[in-house]
Amino acid sequence: MRVMYWVRQELRLADNPCLREAAAAECLLPVLLQPKRGRVERPWWEQREGPFRRRFRAESVSAFASELERRGSGLFVCAEARAGALATLAASLQCSRIVATKLAGSDEEAEEQALQVACKRQGVSLHLLDGHTLFAGAQMAGAPADASRSFSRFRKGVEGKLAPAAPLAAPDKLPPLPALTAEVSKGLERFSPSHPFFAAELRQAQPYAHTFALHGAADAGQARMQWFIWESRCIRRYKETRNDPLAVDASSKFSPWLAQGALSAREVWAEIVRFEATHGSNASTYWLRFELLWREYFFWYARHHGTAIFASGGPGTAAVGPKAVDVGVRSTSVVDDASAGLNGERSTWVGRILEGLTAPQRAAFEAWTRGETDASFVNAAMRELRESGWLSNRSRQVAASYLAWQLGVDWRLGAAWFEYWLCDYDVASNWGNWGYQAAAHPRSDARPLDPEWQANAYDPDGAYRHRWLKQT
Ligand SMILES: Cc1cc2nc3c(=O)[nH]c(=O)nc-3n(C[C@H](O)[C@H](O)[C@H](O)COP(=O)(O)OP(=O)(O)OC[C@H]3O[C@@H](n4cnc5c(N)ncnc54)[C@H](O)[C@@H]3O)c2cc1C
Repeated sequence: MRVMYWVRQELRLADNPCLREAAAAECLLPVLLQPKRGRVERPWWEQREGPFRRRFRAESVSAFASELERRGSGLFVCAEARAGALATLAASLQCSRIVATKLAGSDEEAEEQALQVACKRQGVSLHLLDGHTLFAGAQMAGAPADASRSFSRFRKGVEGKLAPAAPLAAPDKLPPLPALTAEVSKGLERFSPSHPFFAAELRQAQPYAHTFALHGAADAGQARMQWFIWESRCIRRYKETRNDPLAVDASSKFSPWLAQGALSAREVWAEIVRFEATHGSNASTYWLRFELLWREYFFWYARHHGTAIFASGGPGTAAVGPKAVDVGVRSTSVVDDASAGLNGERSTWVGRILEGLTAPQRAAFEAWTRGETDASFVNAAMRELRESGWLSNRSRQVAASYLAWQLGVDWRLGAAWFEYWLCDYDVASNWGNWGYQAAAHPRSDARPLDPEWQANAYDPDGAYRHRWLKQT
């Protein structure tokens, strides 16, 4: 059988279900869709990917392409950005199957559906596999875990009841590439880091460069995992350190690799379990697995609720927006529900929300993005985000809460701003956490976080604020 592999977000050889599925194929063509990048400078909400993630992803892609080549394969880039085009290409190459991983997010799912329709028309079968999560869709379907509502309910449904599958070994050898004639390979190019598109991506700013440069290659993700779990054993005190917004080893920093699939969540999980079996478990080793369950929860939550996670009131509620309190203007969104504007790409409706802001709301939002609010902890976070593409979980929570509650601005603009700047952006974790902070979540008990209290608790000596505001 001839197989095409649509490379999405699993830029690794180890624990890659698509490579396993294609292992016995007569030939295999790994293809990546080249994202659209307009020539003209477009506004941030239309681009969606800022410099840090562009660079990190290009590094992940480049390293993945080299690994494929070392095993007798290679990576091809399709100039066409739409997934549906792959079906035509597969048919012209006589590939009877396309394999890819399932992702969360309405745009991402719409791509899967478009490809499904196109495949049907071309007589090609599409196999969507579980590569981004701890648990497989089939495990979730038969489990008491319910990701449609609260995290606690979900966690209790999986803990001790479901085990993530053992990670798959990296293949030593891959099926050969199909012969590509000039006619069928129109619009396809073999990946090269010197390709003008990728060369430009690799020139973008490096994320987190202020402390230690994050490199997107899967090897770098593995090295970070080895360091955090085995070499430094930082995992043993993770629960006590994780809220420190400044120290590099306070938390794992696995998220950028996990988001690109340059590191597999199942591999991390298995490594924690191995560490616990060797050195014993404690509250901190458990807590790292607990946080991976939050990631898992938001994935299935997003798959369950679809576009509703982007509605201002969240899934299953009237579109009321966050209950703005304290100071500032109330959130009055013009784009409230699916019928009013969540159809179509996120960039389209985010632009419309922005246009619908009143002048004071717009001024409050822009001051927040520049780190010029009345709250110094929030300002430090917002400057850190723009300068490094990174934020600790604590800083994300405080900044998000402040926008939604104290400033009363539609939380989705904040989520879209994070989407642009974060090097570890993940659609389900970002929009899920934002919704949770803004009480746009069916079971959120979120209340406004007091930024002054947060600063005293998590930045008592002011070192974090000093670092980013150059003042105490
Ligand atoms: C407003 C807001 C936006 C967020 N946006 C994203 C995002 O776009 N991408 C993203 O990966 N995470 C996001 N998070 C979750 C969390 O902040 C990051 O995963 C974490 O800070 C990454 O740092 P780390 O790898 O050192 O995490 P650690 O604390 O070491 O945790 C280990 C892993 O567990 C997962 N995890 C930890 N906390 C959460 C959480 N609250 N929700 C989901 N998964 C979690 C991540 O995969 C993380 O890498 C967001 C949180 C908030 C409050």
